[in-house]
Amino acid sequence: MKQLHESSPQERMIQQQLVERGIDDLRVLAAIRSVPREFFFAADTRAQAHADRAAPIGHGQTISQPYMVALMTQRLDVQTGQRILEIGTGSGYQTAVLAHLAGVVYSMERVKPLLDQAFERLMSLGVRNVHLRYGDGSMGWPEAAPFERILITAGARELPTKLLLTQLQDNGIAVLPVGDIQEQVLVEIRRRGDALQRTDICPCRFVKLIGQAGWSE
Ligand code: SAH
Repeated sequence: MKQLHESSPQERMIQQQLVERGIDDLRVLAAIRSVPREFFFAADTRAQAHADRAAPIGHGQTISQPYMVALMTQRLDVQTGQRILEIGTGSGYQTAVLAHLAGVVYSMERVKPLLDQAFERLMSLGVRNVHLRYGDGSMGWPEAAPFERILITAGARELPTKLLLTQLQDNGIAVLPVGDIQEQVLVEIRRRGDALQRTDICPCRFVKLIGQAGWSE
């Protein structure tokens, strides 16, 4: 019988950029499938929503490449019901993916117009288990801590050890970039008591984490 079903751009993105590159956590793939990525793009750039790269979202910031979103989410190993801190809401796309997997997501953004737009998009998609806060996330969200998972989507030179040791729950996992402005390493951190175990994942390039525990403006 003739195949009538044409796969959508989003399905092709999932197959070619994620599955074929080794993203194999079915919960992560289902979460990505459930979020229409084009919804997080402005009308004039929407045609690029499924391209294999990061894309500008205004204010000098970017929405991460689909593969990077999937890789970070897979390494974060989110379990049902968990509390997650995300630093760098940006477009809100990664927030929506995390919200699909987690109990509740606390997400911080220092660019107010981006945060407002992310809020509107998340609400109109019916994502309700998120709390958004405007401000410097480099010091975390102490009132809502501890978190079982922390994801940082902007890069600092040093590991934010104080944040991780005070707001990441024991045995929790954090995923974040660290390094110079031009290039960083994506790292996975596991907290074991007062120790932070670090595993390097791959080279990466994120925008700057700007704030008290990051770069100055
Ligand atoms: N996860 C986002 C990626 C956004 S890029 C997405 O899917 O679209 C990283 C974001 O981190 C930018 O929007 C930037 O403004 C924000 N950021 C940088 N430093 C920050 C800080 N100290 N606190 C909160 N947000 C910060």
